[in-house]
Amino acid sequence: MAVIIDGKELAKKTRQNLKIECEELKKQGINPKLVVIMVGENQASKIYVRNKSKACEEVGIEYEEYLLDDKITQKDLIELIEKLNKDKTVNGILLQSPIPSNLDINEAFRTIDYKKDVDGFHPMNVGKLVLGQDTFVSCTPYGIMRMFEEYNIDLSGKNVVILGRSNIVGKPLSQCCLNKNATITVCHSNTKNIEEITKKADILISAIGKSHFVKSDMVRNGVVIIDVGINRGEDKKITGDVDFENVKNKASYITPVPGGVGPMTIAMLINNCLKAAKEQNR
Ligand code: NAP
Repeated sequence: MAVIIDGKELAKKTRQNLKIECEELKKQGINPKLVVIMVGENQASKIYVRNKSKACEEVGIEYEEYLLDDKITQKDLIELIEKLNKDKTVNGILLQSPIPSNLDINEAFRTIDYKKDVDGFHPMNVGKLVLGQDTFVSCTPYGIMRMFEEYNIDLSGKNVVILGRSNIVGKPLSQCCLNKNATITVCHSNTKNIEEITKKADILISAIGKSHFVKSDMVRNGVVIIDVGINRGEDKKITGDVDFENVKNKASYITPVPGGVGPMTIAMLINNCLKAAKEQNR
C-alpha cells in the first residue's frame, strides 16, 4: 500500500513559510504584487484564478486582476502587458490560458518581461531551465520537484516516464528531472506500446488529461506515481489520469487528485512571485 503524497498539506506548510518571507520583505519596504490577466469567460480558469488570488491574500501578496473582453485585439493585449512591464509596483505578470484562439498566446508570453514571468513560460526562462541555470521554473513541474524533495524521492539514475509533452507540464518537467540526473522518456499521442514503456518506469508522471488512463497492469510494483491530470466528469467530480484505487496497491508513493499536484502548483506560483519581487529589488 502506497504512501499518499499529501500535496494539500505540503502546500499549506509552503504558504506558511512564504508568508513569513513576505512579511520580512515588507519590513524592507518591498511590497510583492501579482497581476493576473484573463481573456474571455472560462469556468475552469475562473476557479484557478480564484484559488491564486486566495493564496496571494493568505501570504500577503498584493493581487490585481484584469478581466478582458474576448473581443480584445492582439494589439490591446500586448499594450496592456507592456504597460505592466513598465509598472515598477508590479513584480509578477500571469496570463491565464486558454485565451481566444484568434489571439497569439506565444507573442503574449514573449512580451511579458522575463523578470516578471512568474509562470516560467518566456523563452528566456525556458532556455535557462534547459541550460540548468537559475530561472522561474513553471509552477506545476516546480511543485512536483518540491514533492520529490519533501518525500526524499531521489531521481538520480531513475527511469522517469512522463505521459504528455505540453509546454506547461511535460516538457519543462522532463528538463527538471533530467537536471536531477534521471533518465527520461516522454510519451505523447503518437507513442506506440505505451504499456511497455510505463511498466519500466521507476517514477511515472501522467499529464495527459484522460480520466483513469493509467491502470494497475501498466505499472510495476513499487513505482512512484505522480498524477497531474484534472478531469471533470459529467457528475462534476474531479478525477486524475490514474486509476488511484487500484494503482495505489502497487505503488510505493502516489499523489491523490484532488489534493496532490494542484495545491503545490499554486504554492509555487506564490514562491515565484516572492522570488521576482526580491530579484527586482536587489
Ligand atoms: P495538453 O496541453 O492538452 O497536453 C496533453 C498531452 O498529453 C499532449 O502532449 C498529448 O499528446 C498527450 N496525450 C493525450 N492523449 C494521450 C494518450 N492517449 N496517450 C499518450 N499521450 C497522450 O494538457 P496539459 O495542459 O499538459 O494538461 C494535462 C492535464 O494536466 C490536464 O488534465 C490538465 O487539466 C492537468 N493540469 C493540472 C495542473 C495541476 O496543477 N494539477 C496543471 C496543469 C495541467 P500530443 O502532444 O501528441 O497531442
